[in-house]
Amino acid sequence: MTDVKIGVLAVQGDFAEHIDRLHEMGIEAGEVRLPAQLDDIDGLIIPGGESTTITRLLDIYDLREPIRALGDAGLPIWGTCAGAIVLAKTASDLDRPNLGLMDIDVRRNAFGRQVDSFEEDLAVEAFGPPAFHAVFIRAPLIDRAGAAVDVLARLPDGGIVAVRQGSLLATSFHPELTPDPRFHRLLADLAAERRRGRRSRGAAAAGG
Ligand code: GLN
Repeated sequence: MTDVKIGVLAVQGDFAEHIDRLHEMGIEAGEVRLPAQLDDIDGLIIPGGESTTITRLLDIYDLREPIRALGDAGLPIWGTCAGAIVLAKTASDLDRPNLGLMDIDVRRNAFGRQVDSFEEDLAVEAFGPPAFHAVFIRAPLIDRAGAAVDVLARLPDGGIVAVRQGSLLATSFHPELTPDPRFHRLLADLAAERRRGRRSRGAAAAGG
């Protein structure tokens, strides 16, 4: 049992699958729809769905600025598919601003429309073998990753589909739809690290 709480942005998209996966792993997880629900989390997932809808709802629910500020302050955040689009610096064909937290440029629907879903076994060096079986659904491609961004996985043709920038993660695919827990584990580990850091800072501030 990991002593962290992960919030899953639950305004649209497949947040329930992420929450189920985290619960299966024994990790506390809850829906985030209100700014106050960001207060006690150690990590956040922005799920797949429709990035135009999610960015619109971020404004309606007053979540854009609090999430951006938390990401800036080091809260581990992982965006899957539409979530990766929301985290990116720039995204093609997006009708409103995204969070711009990660130094990546993404191309929405880079593989075509709905029919263009596919699966691929990805070698993820940070995890080691076996390959990560990845499901892509109307996925974005990461066209550019800045100097501070580590590329975690590429398609066989070299296209970037998973990246990490400090405590921020983005994947073009949907690890919540396959049984492999390694990306969820990575986020939980980053969340645990942050929680420990905050506790020791809190103890130092309290003179303990
Ligand atoms: N095509 C969607 C978008 O652009 C993302 C699809 C997904 O999250 N599965 O937002």
